[in-house]
Amino acid sequence: MSEKREFKSESKRLLDLMINSIYTHKEIFLRELISNASDASDKMYYKALKENIQGFSREDMDIELTVDKDKRTLTIEDHGIGMNEAELDEHLGTIANSGSNEFKKALDEGKDDVDIIGQFGVGFYSAFMVADKVEVFSKKYGDDQAYCWVSDTSDGYEIFESSLDHYGTKIVLHLKQNTDSDNYDEYLDQYNIERLVKKYSDYIRYPIKMDMTVSKKKEDSDEYEDVTETRTLNSMVPLWKRQKKDIKPEDYNEFYKSKFNDFSDPQRVMHNTVEGNVSYTSLLFIPSKVPMNYFSSDYEPGLQLYSRGVFIMDHCKDLLPDHYRFVRGLVDSQDLNLNISREMLQSDHTVKKISERIEKRITKELTDMLNKDRDAYKEFFKNFGIQLKFGIYNSYGMLKDKLQDLLMFYSANKKDMITLKEYVEAMPEDQKEIYFASGETVEKIDLLPQVETVKDKGFDILYLTQEVDEFCLQMMRDYNEKPFKNVAQGDLNIETEEEKEALKKETDENKNMLDAIKTALGDKVVDVKLTGRLKSHPVCLSASEGVSFEMEKALNAMPNPEGQKVKAGRILEINPDHQLFSALKTVYEKDPAKINDYADILFDQALLIEGFPVDDPVAFSTKITNLMIEATK
Ligand code: ADP
Repeated sequence: MSEKREFKSESKRLLDLMINSIYTHKEIFLRELISNASDASDKMYYKALKENIQGFSREDMDIELTVDKDKRTLTIEDHGIGMNEAELDEHLGTIANSGSNEFKKALDEGKDDVDIIGQFGVGFYSAFMVADKVEVFSKKYGDDQAYCWVSDTSDGYEIFESSLDHYGTKIVLHLKQNTDSDNYDEYLDQYNIERLVKKYSDYIRYPIKMDMTVSKKKEDSDEYEDVTETRTLNSMVPLWKRQKKDIKPEDYNEFYKSKFNDFSDPQRVMHNTVEGNVSYTSLLFIPSKVPMNYFSSDYEPGLQLYSRGVFIMDHCKDLLPDHYRFVRGLVDSQDLNLNISREMLQSDHTVKKISERIEKRITKELTDMLNKDRDAYKEFFKNFGIQLKFGIYNSYGMLKDKLQDLLMFYSANKKDMITLKEYVEAMPEDQKEIYFASGETVEKIDLLPQVETVKDKGFDILYLTQEVDEFCLQMMRDYNEKPFKNVAQGDLNIETEEEKEALKKETDENKNMLDAIKTALGDKVVDVKLTGRLKSHPVCLSASEGVSFEMEKALNAMPNPEGQKVKAGRILEINPDHQLFSALKTVYEKDPAKINDYADILFDQALLIEGFPVDDPVAFSTKITNLMIEATK
């Protein structure tokens, strides 16, 4: 007896989407099911090799497709590892795909189904785009009992004991009736099925066979007759084993999309065969979009590992350095032992050598892209540049030499992304440091008072908008011996001798007032001084050496169990060339006690400009109000 089981809620929603899908590429369901069949066959084949079970060859482990026009069914049958009752329940009753959380998010954000189907590679459930009832017969290798999983609605499914004359899985799709917009009969058409297999699944390592009815000339006669013959539809040569010259860009694209569950073509393809003290073939892809789950812990980096064409494991992290974790792909090497385990990988010499070469290969690809196709590189950097910066930061700068020339930052002068090399090459001779300013957006940074004078003096400034930026530069310290310098921090030393002289004079003359302001602000500031940093703005805050304001914000945004807050030292800088300074002097001369309110307002203003909240907004606005009233008296 079987009982109705319910789908988990996420699966139910995905299924509803599939059932009602208006997705135009419904044909991908076949690719998904064949890919599952191939994965299950891989598992079986690998098990047989490892456990030395006799009688297994890939040629015999075929995947069979059968169409039955009368019953309107399409059947996909494999000789893979199969599933037992619990596995049927677990694997087909829930979304197996690791992106399930992201998927839920996308659903909740109201993304349409085309986006979702593309982004998540919906796998088995895609069958429900074309079938209104799906039966899965499966017998796990080593078991006697087969089971059948069946569902015809998103409400639930049943599993009951059944029979299958071999281990493996047989999936029967009961195709939907045609509608005005969709013709499901095409999945009963043998030539169409053949076309789809060639298009999406040509490289599958197991023969995909189908009985095809073809018209043949009778022997010794001019008449034709219909005969049925079993044909292998795919060429079975894995894409990466084929000659590069025989592979079209579309072949790579289709392969990538089906294997790595992406909707978009890859941005770059790297296909290499290396012979030497280690021999291997690698096929690597840089995605053209950031995967939905890239920044969540769901994202599993790493390459697929094959040995002599036998699939060994997925997401092998030891083959790929973390700063290139966005790269997808595979490595096939005859020099690797089939029995290698995850634990052994890390210390394996061959794996180490391969991973070093792979890293070099990716670096070369990125360098070439930067030099020869800048727009493409900018696109790449927008997607994954952050990973390179994290690479430098997380390695405490050890990766600086490897990665620094791949970095790009926004240049205030060029109003575009530039490399550090380009920045340094364009530096005037008297410029000793690489200037940068950080903030939330380019527009906001552009408005920072500290930026104006530096730009005015003809120096370019790099605008840093990602939190990791400043941390990355701090780890690097310098580029080609030119240190990095935050324009909002410490002394800039860009004044001429005359300007310095004038500033010192002004400071001496107003020492009492500056001291009074400093006393008024108490421990809110480490110093109050006149500055040559400003042009049209009256005041700014600068940070003392060490932690900058943007770093303070980033560090304080991180979870911190002790609740400790980082604080950059604040220096209130006043522009002596601004009218406000004259006003301050007048106020101080007339009524020194009044300077206290002015000091508070100035400081709060400077805080706001830096993007910090003021401590006491009510007091701030009361003081402003009073000033406004006074102005009319
Ligand atoms: P994915 O393949 O991305 O894991 P699917 O929804 O396509 O997601 O499949 C879910 C799971 O069901 C698979 O991971 C696998 O464990 C199991 N499965 C699907 N098809 C087969 C099959 N033909 N043979 C054995 N197991 C299968």
